[in-house]
Amino acid sequence: MGSCALRSCASRTEVDENNTTEKTFHRLPKNADRCQLWVKFVNRGEWTPTRSSVICSKHFSEESFDRTSKCYVNLKLNDVPTIHLNQEESPPSTIKY
Ligand SMILES: [Zn+2]
Repeated sequence: MGSCALRSCASRTEVDENNTTEKTFHRLPKNADRCQLWVKFVNRGEWTPTRSSVICSKHFSEESFDRTSKCYVNLKLNDVPTIHLNQEESPPSTIKY
């Protein structure tokens, strides 16, 4: 069992009895190009994902999920995580006044 790759995220793969919201964990894509996008999102510097690295569903927009299966939740192909829970970990953005 592991936990979400994002340091700011407290999600664990263990079942949280107090949290009944559907939370799923998604392995990094095998495709190297897409995997890079995920690594960039995780923003851990020299972090190299392992085969057991996962990112939880909190970081994906609802449109990223394929819920056609009742047994498990799939990510749609080509989708990348976009939602940072902690603003401090967001990539610096240019604010124009
Ligand atoms: Zn997470």
